[in-house]
Amino acid sequence: MDERLDYAPCGYFSLTHEGIMTSVNQTFLDMMGYSRGELLHTHVESIMSKANQLIFHSYFYPHINLSGHVEELFISIKNRAGQSIPFILNGRRSERAGDETIDCVMVQMSKRLDYEQELRGAKTRLEEAYLEQEQVLARLQQLHAEIGQKQTELLELNAVLLDLSTTDKLTGLRNRRYLQEHLDAMLTTCAAAAEPFSLLIVDIDHFKRVNDTFGHLAGDQVLELLGGLLTYHCREQDTVARYGGEEFVLLLPGLNAAEAKLVAENLRLNVAGAVWEPVRITISIGIATFTGQDSSESLLRKADEALYVSKENGRNRVTHHLDGMHRAPSEHVPIYHLK
Ligand code: GH3
Ligand code: MG
Ligand code: MG
Repeated sequence: MDERLDYAPCGYFSLTHEGIMTSVNQTFLDMMGYSRGELLHTHVESIMSKANQLIFHSYFYPHINLSGHVEELFISIKNRAGQSIPFILNGRRSERAGDETIDCVMVQMSKRLDYEQELRGAKTRLEEAYLEQEQVLARLQQLHAEIGQKQTELLELNAVLLDLSTTDKLTGLRNRRYLQEHLDAMLTTCAAAAEPFSLLIVDIDHFKRVNDTFGHLAGDQVLELLGGLLTYHCREQDTVARYGGEEFVLLLPGLNAAEAKLVAENLRLNVAGAVWEPVRITISIGIATFTGQDSSESLLRKADEALYVSKENGRNRVTHHLDGMHRAPSEHVPIYHLK
């Protein structure tokens, strides 16, 4: 065999019409581990698996016979160690010296299969990575949703806490802290808008006696009921707060001194006329009306001074700071009887 063909960079063998190998090049022998003697004069199908023999029968021979050539036939040949080595086979029938010969060129496919496998592996890894990414993304979204939920809960909790911190536990009214902040804000607004504004301090008369006579729990109940009654008789825009102990402060925006006195008198009458179990109570009220120069302290002080006059004048009465503020002679002070 010509040396160039013998060592060509692909396998080569020739077959008789019956499939007997009549020549084989060194490259093919090196690829497969056979010696030339082992392959020459043997049937080419002897180095094929049953499945490949079938392909050979059903495709190779019919094609060679029909068209004289076969191109890119994928076929596996067993090497000497019995491993199947994949090849691309190109075959052509020719006549040499009156004999029919089939020349076959064999290009090994292992590398390409390896590449394909590697490619498939990379594709699978990529798909897995995508899947993982999607799962991570989904988890991230879930975490985002959880954080959102927690934030909402936190805001709600903050609102509850804020409400609790500005609410009087016993009566459910606004507490002194709220009142102080609200009063400052209200004074600023009213000063800017030149709006009238009145403040009432309501104090239960002889409340100590209620506790002493009927017990602290009964006293608590009275405080609760009075809180409800004051709220009931006030407008939506008014603020009713428990200022401490048995004292309540009412903020009445838009009301001048005369209007505030009417409201206070109405409250006083309603309390005095209500049926309280187990004890009737009365309230004394002190009123101050914002002058435009007042601070929250001065307004509260004025209302407190007016309340003091109400007490001094016999309780169960209303005094506005602008009124005479004189105490009634002591003989006019009615004796207050607790039921
Ligand atoms: P005055 O007519 O001068 O206002 O007399 P008073 O007895 O109402 O006033 P005083 O300041 O002498 O007593 C207030 C009482 O209010 C004393 C205290 O035990 C009671 N008190 C304060 N806070 C509470 C409370 O939360 N619950 C109860 N049950 N009593 C309270
Ligand atoms: Mg008091
Ligand atoms: Mg009192």
